[in-house]
Amino acid sequence: MSSRLVNAQATTPDLTSYDLLAPQLSGGKDSAVMMAVFMDDVRAAGVADRVVSYHSGLGVLEWPAVVFEGIRYPGVSELAALQSSAFGVPADQHVEVTRTMPGPDGIRMPHSLLTEIAAYGRFPRMGSPYCRKSAKEAVVSSAWTPMVRRLRRELGRPVRILKVMGLRSDEGADRRKRAAFRRVQANGARVVDEWLPVKDWPTAAVREWHVAAPVPYCWTYDSVPGAADWAGTSRCSCSLCVFASRRDVLLSLSRRPRLAALYAEVEQVRGDSFRADWRIADLIRHAETCGAPDPGVVCADDGPEFDALQQQVCMALKREPRKKPDLALRGGRAPCDGCAVRS
Ligand code: SF4
Repeated sequence: MSSRLVNAQATTPDLTSYDLLAPQLSGGKDSAVMMAVFMDDVRAAGVADRVVSYHSGLGVLEWPAVVFEGIRYPGVSELAALQSSAFGVPADQHVEVTRTMPGPDGIRMPHSLLTEIAAYGRFPRMGSPYCRKSAKEAVVSSAWTPMVRRLRRELGRPVRILKVMGLRSDEGADRRKRAAFRRVQANGARVVDEWLPVKDWPTAAVREWHVAAPVPYCWTYDSVPGAADWAGTSRCSCSLCVFASRRDVLLSLSRRPRLAALYAEVEQVRGDSFRADWRIADLIRHAETCGAPDPGVVCADDGPEFDALQQQVCMALKREPRKKPDLALRGGRAPCDGCAVRS
């Protein structure tokens, strides 16, 4: 599938008018397509030296690398770096950023989104998707600050940044409504525009593109790593996403039972549910009694990073939540409806 063919309708902004071209790579299938389309335009405009790609690392919450039948399949952060290098961005122009918090010895340590949920006391909701901002957008925006300060002084005007993302209309109503190009921030220091070059790509076209892609897609999209059947989870970022379909969550919790148990602990202690209509604890029970999609592969989640996450979440749960979960508790819940696994 030619990227030009699918992207013929999309309007390309004047890439030469930006000081920083900043593709945001989630490591998912859409990021890779976006990078291919975007870098074609960048090269045509002769501004490849202005590209710095970013990945907001979600640490243990992301899909990790797995070894299946003797073959190693990369995890999400590694894929984001591969997506950057595959389309010509030098390794030192790809940046992985992570939210941090002060550690016990004063040195900053990764601050997981699940720890933030535990400390806040409520899971993100459609009307309040704070996870996207706190774990992703705000982290990248903060990473720009030193460069913005320096360039602002040199240029004597606000720094112009183009944020490029792989969001597509097929992914949901909120994405469909989002403009393919818009200004998202303007102040005396920076002007940030957002561009979605593959907004109109259908899912089928993305999958077709991946057949001959120079970079692999994440193993979680398949029923088992390497199957190339797209019968796994429909998305990949946080393994357990509060906005995922029920089938995706059932499959994910079978693939990452220890992580699912940690989410269930947050639910239980805070009295909020993973989603307004489902508790993850009920989905775990549902998977045990009624069955769940075959995981194909199960992640051990037994390394030091997972232990550190557990400790961090445990400490957050010992403190008073910043927000009471009243609003979420008003939503109806459907704990188990027989075996109707919907997508
Ligand atoms: S993957 Fe889902 S839960 Fe994770 S940050 Fe994105 S929207 Fe939030």
